[in-house]
Amino acid sequence: MLSGVGPADHLASLNIPLVMDLPVGEKIQDHTNTLAGPFLKSPSVNPSRDINIQAVNSFLTNGSGILAATSAGAGQGFLKSPVAHPNYADLQIIHSASALHPRLPQDLNHKMGLRVDILEKWFDPYHKMNTDARFGTVVLGRPKSFGKMMLASTNPYDNPIIDPQYLTHPDDIEALLYGFKKFVDLYENTEVLNTKLFPKPVPGCESEVFKSDDYYRCVIKMFSFTMFHHVGSCALGKVVDNELRVIGIDGLRVIDASVMPRLPNGNTQAATIMIAEKGSDLVSKSVRSYRYGNTQFKRSKNRFWHVT
Ligand SMILES: Cc1cc2nc3c(=O)[nH]c(=O)nc-3n(C[C@H](O)[C@H](O)[C@H](O)COP(=O)(O)OP(=O)(O)OC[C@H]3O[C@@H](n4cnc5c(N)ncnc54)[C@H](O)[C@@H]3O)c2cc1C
Repeated sequence: MLSGVGPADHLASLNIPLVMDLPVGEKIQDHTNTLAGPFLKSPSVNPSRDINIQAVNSFLTNGSGILAATSAGAGQGFLKSPVAHPNYADLQIIHSASALHPRLPQDLNHKMGLRVDILEKWFDPYHKMNTDARFGTVVLGRPKSFGKMMLASTNPYDNPIIDPQYLTHPDDIEALLYGFKKFVDLYENTEVLNTKLFPKPVPGCESEVFKSDDYYRCVIKMFSFTMFHHVGSCALGKVVDNELRVIGIDGLRVIDASVMPRLPNGNTQAATIMIAEKGSDLVSKSVRSYRYGNTQFKRSKNRFWHVT
């Protein structure tokens, strides 16, 4: 956008000369996710108790122990909520064996931006007593809400404005509600887990009947956060064509997560790598010859390079 490729009105508002009017940044998406739990079940991982010199020794000598475990992603599953497209799951549920420990509010704030004051009040006094616990992360895999990304200024060192508009589509809350209730059901009503949801209501949601749909909706609004899976600012078909070329501009491609027009119901890294593989093939196919030092390379019909 700083180079003049973007929505004409937005660029004009910053006096950036227009090169091409394209809807850059107009429809972005991210995986919103909600914290479900805690369930006071043992065993679990408590960093201040379990990550110690013995754990380091066990990992370095045998590659085993707590540091060899996945911990935060201890188990995952995909679900289809009632508002899902009939052909796709729209929820990912990640199970984590994380204890309530004194620094958990700060850790959750650091990783997810959740408010320390609310978490301190909610976990009190269990986190001060180092209580074993489990959580679930309910991920909205196929959000129907779209956000927007804009320039804050013409200074390339300024961060852009990202307005994610999480949960603005009502189906997004209903999908998370379904996943949240499934996770609670799994803990409370299966023989192997058999643990009730943490008995203290989330501060700010006490006015709703505990464990009612409206209570869970309140928790979802209170504790939903980014999964850092932003896509869509240079969407295929809108900003780039089917060969990832920026529409209307010669010699410029976008090959990264921003070309995904919708989020896949799964983490974005693998999809980005696939886009990169395809994109590098497209670039290589479009180049017929190049010079490196004194050597000229040419591509033959069978796509092999040879020296001329
Ligand atoms: C904290 C976090 C956790 C994540 N966890 C997971 C996960 O567990 N699983 C998963 O699948 N996905 C995960 N993701 C998402 C995943 O990392 C991204 O979807 C993916 O990296 C996007 O790839 P990209 O190439 O589009 O962008 P990036 O990976 O961000 O690559 C952009 C590159 O451009 C470089 N760059 C930026 N500006 C300039 C410039 N002016 N000049 C030159 N270079 C520049 C940057 O240094 C960077 O190397 C996570 C993301 C974050 C932030």
